[in-house]
Amino acid sequence: MTRMTVVADRELCVGAGRCALTAPAVFTSDDDGLVAVREPQVTDDHRAAVTTAVSLCPAQALRIDPPTSA
Ligand code: SF4
Repeated sequence: MTRMTVVADRELCVGAGRCALTAPAVFTSDDDGLVAVREPQVTDDHRAAVTTAVSLCPAQALRIDPPTSA
């Protein structure tokens, strides 16, 4: 299975919550309204939603690391 890793930079996050709306299985918001990653190892099932969430983040706070084979 091919996986990718998503990384969130909470220093950049402005708490818009768009990622949690776009890919709720992978992202959520903490009590401060900032992004929290539920599962950094993204499976193929969530790849499209995570890619969309990364592109929609207004703060460029999300990054996808290169895919790795697992
Ligand atoms: S979309 Fe970006 S700015 Fe908004 S909560 Fe997610 S990581 Fe933070």
